[in-house]
This record gives sequence, structure tokens and C-alpha cells, in this order.
Amino acid sequence: MRLVLLGPPGAGKGTQARRIVERFGIPQLSTGVMLRAAVAAGTSIGKQAQAVMERGELVPDELVTGIIAERIEQADARSGFILDGFPRTVAQAIALDLELNTTKLALDAAIELQVDIAALTKRMSQRVAEAQARGEAVRPDDNPATFQVRLETYRAQTAPVAEFYAGKGILKTIDGMQSIDKVSDGIFLRLS
Ligand code: AMP
Repeated sequence: MRLVLLGPPGAGKGTQARRIVERFGIPQLSTGVMLRAAVAAGTSIGKQAQAVMERGELVPDELVTGIIAERIEQADARSGFILDGFPRTVAQAIALDLELNTTKLALDAAIELQVDIAALTKRMSQRVAEAQARGEAVRPDDNPATFQVRLETYRAQTAPVAEFYAGKGILKTIDGMQSIDKVSDGIFLRLS
């Protein structure tokens, strides 16, 4: 099963991706996680990405499409994967299609978590407060000002990706404002 998970920041993509991993035994490929690891390790990709990420903007398409192309060729991704946080632009979606086409593969579905944008800022503040209460580090881009940039970036550059997959007939939309369990149930139902 080859899947893409779409939704604005704070929509619960990470949580749902982990449940999909458990259900289908496929790896979760998250460009945000990979980029944060590259920043922490001080690699050349990390150095190029750090400031852009801290502003809440998108790193260049070539940078992430390269990372994903390499990652989906690895053995654990041969029988499937769930992409979380990628593609974030239509150019990335086209690059992914081309990459999959070279091995005669295609996506099975793009799942879009639809959420009330106004509620997301509150969710983000809660997520930060909970992490702080647990003594965990908070992401540098999880602050109110950067979060607004991330939301606007999603609206302008990533929302069209859902249209792109709708045009291909593989978009499955779920109400992401329901409980975590209900959202997962909705996803599994649409994939069965
Ligand atoms: P995330 O953890 O998915 O919220 O990603 C954190 C940040 O990493 C984003 O705000 C972007 O700056 C960058 N990023 C992650 N995935 C992508 C992508 N597919 N394209 C461009 N930038 C990305």
C-alpha cells in the first residue's frame, strides 16, 4: 500500500500515520522528521534547511524530492509506505509520480485530513504546553507566529496538492476534527 497523508500543520498527520504503520506494517516516511534529523546532525541538507524551517516556509522542492527518491528505494519501502509531510507542492507530487513510474508503481490513495483552521492554533498551543509539562523539547517552529506562517504556506502551496490527487481520482477526505479513534476508523474504512 502506497499512501500520502495530507493536512495542515497540527491536523494529526503524525498520529494517524503511526496508526497506519501499525495496521499495514509499512514504514512512515516523514520529511519533517528527516529534515530535523539532518539539522541536528549538521549535514549539508540540514544547513540548507534550518533557517527556512525556522521561518515556517518550505525548503526547496529539489532538496526533499531527492531525499524521498532515495528513501523509497530502500528495502523496507518496497512493498509500501505512508508519506507524512510530503508532497507539499504540486511540483513535489509530480516528481513523486515520475519517480514511482520509473519502477511502474503508483500511489494507492492520498488521504486528506480536513480540519477547522481556527481550531489548529489552539491545538498547537496545547501540544506545546503538554510537551513542556512532560519536560520534552519543543520544536522551534511550534510558536504562534511561525505557526501562522506554516498555515498560510499550507493554504497557498499544499492545498492544491489535494486537488491534484482529486483529479487523479485517488483523494480520500476525512473529517479530522473527530476523535483520534474515529479519524483512524474513517481512514481504514476508506482504504478497505
Ligand atoms: P513537518 O514536521 O512536516 O511539519 O515539517 C517541518 C518543516 O520542515 C516544514 O515547515 C518545512 O519547513 C519543512 N518540510 C517538511 N517537509 C517538507 C516538504 N515536503 N517540502 C518542503 N519543506 C518541507
